[in-house]
Amino acid sequence: MKILLVEDECELALPLKAILAGEGHSVDWVDDGKFAWEMLLSVNYDLCIFDWLLPGMTGIELTKKLRQRSCTTPVLLLTARDAPQDKVVGLDSGADDYLVKPFDMAELLARVRALSRRIPQFTAARLTYADLELDTATMMAYRGNQEIPLNRKEFQLLELFLRHPGQVLSRDQILTYLWEVGEEPESNVIAAQIRLLRRKIDEGFPVPLVHTVYGVGYRMSNNA
Ligand code: CA
Repeated sequence: MKILLVEDECELALPLKAILAGEGHSVDWVDDGKFAWEMLLSVNYDLCIFDWLLPGMTGIELTKKLRQRSCTTPVLLLTARDAPQDKVVGLDSGADDYLVKPFDMAELLARVRALSRRIPQFTAARLTYADLELDTATMMAYRGNQEIPLNRKEFQLLELFLRHPGQVLSRDQILTYLWEVGEEPESNVIAAQIRLLRRKIDEGFPVPLVHTVYGVGYRMSNNA
């Protein structure tokens, strides 16, 4: 998933980003509410994690603004507040879940998994297309009788294709999904990443699945 993490405590944000990345997610981390809002206007996130108290704009304000735009992206609020009335304010703002600091990382991951199951596209733990299968929990792909281990970017790229089978994905769409804020990819990076993925899932198989649509982008299909 593409996740927006808005947290101004570096000591919490960095391990959080790392642990989410370890689960295969692409995580944009920003520490300011106003900047987060700009990101939300330009990038399509699958899930948001907002700290309550933030410089620029609070997590509550961010959630309310999202809901005012009829955006249903799941929001998990993080906060040090734990008075019952605060929970009510948090959930009334339109947040889907609420986690009080300090929390256990395993619990946060469980909440993220639970929220992801509410997103129609992310309900299945195993994604399939033709004879290809991807286990999103283990980041392992299967084709024919072969087990194909993937690194994080390969996994994210294949996941993106499998969630949009048959659709043409532009280079920009792929770049936004795979690369995180602060990473500066080189111009030919998408072509290189596609090459790596093809080597893993297409090479040696009779029917190629990843196709180039010249001048537009790439498409997963079992007929050229
Ligand atoms: Ca804070």
